[in-house]
Amino acid sequence: MPIKKILTAAAIFFGATMTHAADTPTYSLVIHGGAGTITPDKLTPELEAEIRGDLKHALEAGQKVLASGGKAVDAVTAVITVLENSPHFNAGRGAVFTAEGKNEMDAAIMDGKTLNAGAVAGVTHVKNPILLARAVMEKSPHVMLAGPGAEQFADEQGIERADDKYFYTDYRWHQLQEAKRLHMGAVMDHTGNIEYKFGTVGAVARDMHGNLAAGTSTGGMTNKAHGRIGDSPIIGAGTYADNKSCAVSGTGQGEFFIRATVARSICALIEYKGMSLQAAADQVVMKQLVEMGGEGGIIAVDKDGNMTQTFNTPGMFRGMVGSGVPEKVDIYKD
Ligand code: ASP
Repeated sequence: MPIKKILTAAAIFFGATMTHAADTPTYSLVIHGGAGTITPDKLTPELEAEIRGDLKHALEAGQKVLASGGKAVDAVTAVITVLENSPHFNAGRGAVFTAEGKNEMDAAIMDGKTLNAGAVAGVTHVKNPILLARAVMEKSPHVMLAGPGAEQFADEQGIERADDKYFYTDYRWHQLQEAKRLHMGAVMDHTGNIEYKFGTVGAVARDMHGNLAAGTSTGGMTNKAHGRIGDSPIIGAGTYADNKSCAVSGTGQGEFFIRATVARSICALIEYKGMSLQAAADQVVMKQLVEMGGEGGIIAVDKDGNMTQTFNTPGMFRGMVGSGVPEKVDIYKD
């Protein structure tokens, strides 16, 4: 065959392959339920089964949205709502206690297509802080509302409130007493001598239209000061999404994540330096954070649907699923 014909045939073949790939809509979903010193000896088999069950349930809620052609922001909202309703995670119902014995929750959501974002900080009686963050994004001209103003906005928007009893769990109360007894200061959910088992929750998704979204929800750190706000609701620190690069949700010691602008840094390394998702995540989580002394991890998905779960702690509650990628829930390091 003359060389020109071979080249033409090759061009048609590769062109067809690429068109086919571009025409086949795919989706990706990654979730987390917190990172920390999570080792098999810290969980009873029953508790581990319950946590795995909740993560699976959350993954399925998000997958249902994505597989039927729904939006990434809706999938992220669905996942986080399920995890906030479980007492097993440090978000919504299972939120940790502040030093004053109160629950102060933070949450954020970001739409990678529009770069719209919504966040709430220090809310005390909102059943699902992620729904309030979403309302801030879609129904207000602002990005972040905090404290009583955020609660007032919840009432205006008809978002469900819950009383102190709803957020009380013996387990969390015991955690706070232990942190105080051991003079530990503010502690990450899974760190230290106390059996910290449950964590902040988050989700990132790429839908079949190629749009990205990220969301995170947390009770913060046990024994934290009244008014302390972590990285989760800070756009660019614990949560970020941009269709040009990636969507990220973090979990770990918030003060470090804020100082390292973790989520946005990962996206920026992809956008400006052309790094792969995994290389960018490693650079920030395994190098920069480690050098600073910051513990934690991230989940992320890039514009092409690649997924990562990268953490510098012994474990991270996590799950992923995608087109052609079977559902998988993990807890410990591989
Ligand atoms: N990043 C959260 C915070 O600092 C805590 C966590 O992820 O466990 O508020």
